[in-house]
Amino acid sequence: MRIDVLDKGFVELVDRMGDDYSAVQAARTSYGKGLTNKERDDRLIHYLMKNGHHSPFEHIVFKFHLKLPIFVMRQLVRHRIASINERSGRYTEFAEEWYLPSEIRTPDKDNRQGSVVSDDPTLNRTAIEIINKAYKNSFDAYSKLLEIGVAREVARVVLPTSMYTEAYWTINVRSMMNFLNQRADSHAQEEIQQYAIAIAEILEISCPVTFDAFIQHNYTGDLLNKEVKG
Ligand SMILES: Cc1cc2nc3c(=O)[nH]c(=O)nc-3n(C[C@H](O)[C@H](O)[C@H](O)COP(=O)(O)OP(=O)(O)OC[C@H]3O[C@@H](n4cnc5c(N)ncnc54)[C@H](O)[C@@H]3O)c2cc1C
Repeated sequence: MRIDVLDKGFVELVDRMGDDYSAVQAARTSYGKGLTNKERDDRLIHYLMKNGHHSPFEHIVFKFHLKLPIFVMRQLVRHRIASINERSGRYTEFAEEWYLPSEIRTPDKDNRQGSVVSDDPTLNRTAIEIINKAYKNSFDAYSKLLEIGVAREVARVVLPTSMYTEAYWTINVRSMMNFLNQRADSHAQEEIQQYAIAIAEILEISCPVTFDAFIQHNYTGDLLNKEVKG
């Protein structure tokens, strides 16, 4: 399962351990019991979620392959309860691939952290021109440094944080819910919101009962579908 994100990025599910009922199994071990029937098992998922018994959800684990701009990666690595391996700019050359925003945003007057899409065509055109020129200068400098024999680990110092990088990211569902609460939310930066929404979509498809229970009882963000809350 792979979902395209931004202009050149993606979230791809590489592997998964467990499903909705892994949490039920883990929780029932407290009583020396296992799965019963779907109705009771689903009810237990909701009970666990509602009452803050979140450790059973650590038994469902997702491994993703991500392609994302470096500045989004910097936000992602702040989520410490996950395992990461990232492509090395010392061992591989950067491709001429950077993130170009499809819309230019200006500061949001009501939310100091946020931004709003600009409807000023002159500002948008000028901003895109400046961004493209800066990218091109940086990448030309990078290529030139490599050409004259400078090591990749040194040449990369001129590259911007919008260069795309790739990583494997393994996270359990308890930690994923914390990530979604923070990043599938309008207070997070727009670009990481897009990754969070893609990850939520994969969680919903893979573990529908857990996802519903999460949205109903535990989700604190404002971007994911809350209709199931009733
Ligand atoms: C809108 C927004 C703005 C942000 N702005 C900034 C910013 O300006 N500057 C900045 O530096 N960061 C910023 N952050 C990052 C934020 O501070 C967190 O580091 C990040 O969101 C990860 O959250 P977390 O610690 O809950 O997740 P994880 O690191 O995955 O941790 C999950 C949980 O484990 C527990 N835990 C993990 N490590 C420890 C520990 N060492 N001690 C005790 N408990 C631990 C905590 O309960 C934690 O909630 C921002 C995040 C958001 C969403």
